[in-house]
Amino acid sequence: MDTTTTLPLYHRALDWDALYRSYPVPDVYARTVYRWSAERVRALQEERLREVLAAGWRNPFYRSLWSGAGIEPGDIRGIEDIARLPAFNSDDIKNDQQAHPPFGLLCGCADLKEQIRSMPNRLQTSGGTTGKPRYTLQSILENEVSALSAARALYLQGVRPGDVMQIPATCSLASLPWAYAKACSDYLGVLPLTTGSGVVTPARRQIEIAFDCGVNCWMSFPEYLARLAQSCREEHGRDPRELNTKLVTSFLGPDTEESLRRSLETLWGCPVYDNYGTNEVGHGAFECEAREGLHFMEDLSYFEILDTATGQPVPQGKIGNLVVTVFYRRVFPIVRFNLRDLARLKSSAPCACGSCFRRMDHFLGRSDDMVRMRGVNVYPMACLPAVRSDPRTTGEWLCEARDAVVDGRAYEELAVRVEVRSDAGPLTGLAEKIGARLKNDLGITVGVELVEQGRLDSPANLGEGKAKRFVERRAAYLKHR
Ligand SMILES: [Zn+2]
Repeated sequence: MDTTTTLPLYHRALDWDALYRSYPVPDVYARTVYRWSAERVRALQEERLREVLAAGWRNPFYRSLWSGAGIEPGDIRGIEDIARLPAFNSDDIKNDQQAHPPFGLLCGCADLKEQIRSMPNRLQTSGGTTGKPRYTLQSILENEVSALSAARALYLQGVRPGDVMQIPATCSLASLPWAYAKACSDYLGVLPLTTGSGVVTPARRQIEIAFDCGVNCWMSFPEYLARLAQSCREEHGRDPRELNTKLVTSFLGPDTEESLRRSLETLWGCPVYDNYGTNEVGHGAFECEAREGLHFMEDLSYFEILDTATGQPVPQGKIGNLVVTVFYRRVFPIVRFNLRDLARLKSSAPCACGSCFRRMDHFLGRSDDMVRMRGVNVYPMACLPAVRSDPRTTGEWLCEARDAVVDGRAYEELAVRVEVRSDAGPLTGLAEKIGARLKNDLGITVGVELVEQGRLDSPANLGEGKAKRFVERRAAYLKHR
């Protein structure tokens, strides 16, 4: 039988041993690179930066961006010089993709057909919560390392061969569920159950599957985890803790006082881990078992935190925009991409887990989600600690900016609608308490409106991936859309 083939078979498209030498698999990683000294990690980053810069100079998007800023090949000798390169953001990617459809010059494929024909590729997009999503083409290398990075985080959080992980998120153009499913099946000896979001598999059925299949790990968003626990109690008459869940891995957002984590841990009876990632970066940062901040995955990317106004590095502990350089992307190189995600460096000191990888605090919101209210910059995500400060709320909220007239004068007002549990009991003083806390946290007076449990399901998009926390109703702003 003649077995020669001219098809670009997945399992022949990479030198797998070389890949795993460069990017170790989870257990090897946990005892090698992850525990290297800060100096050794830095040396690896320097070496990888040189490779990324070489790829950048071959890419028309970067060649134009860097030449335009007066940079020449060889000017950037290492991470110390990296700030001389101009940063760019998602608007630049969108403009590039509009001018050079569909994937822009940044994609770096001179011949797209040839790229598709010659090796396995995938297309992923950003969430597209605002406007048209951004496309990211990834070859087998990017696809593999992205899954590998999720697998490493899961391993360091305690996932082990033989576990069963439920992933209630839809495998669509968003990369997240794909990466987790591949991490489980290809790198961890874990059975992934890609049950899809609530639209595909309702909460009641999700819980039924979990009991049937012996699910002991979950990857899901906080809002949906709360919904699943509620369904377990109300529709199955069982305590979610009967599932004996080992761990939940999630994306907690600005949970600076740990109230969201605590409430989920009480519901599920297991540790809950926080992570940070995007379509462009893959798995950017994750908590280890010590849960003392999110470790940057330092061998795959280099993160900077820059002042939102000046673009200069901020001191440790101060909030700024995350700017990332990704070491392993070649089809869509990422060099100094301003994610406009707010974060602060928590520690550069070695962690209790034995790693020197720097740690950031929880993801604090998006800087372009900022709302200007009566001359003050307000971040709707910053309502989280206040809304969760009282057990009578469900922890869900939605901000609405609108016009009001007070004493005959036009006035901008921010109303924060807060969901109250159906079993909350007397609500005496609740609105006032949350209002006072919000005034302190946001820096402006807001109106707090208590609404019944379930009322925000649809307006805040609960249970369908990313929750929505802000609605614009001011005439002056709507006109300019
Ligand atoms: Zn650690």
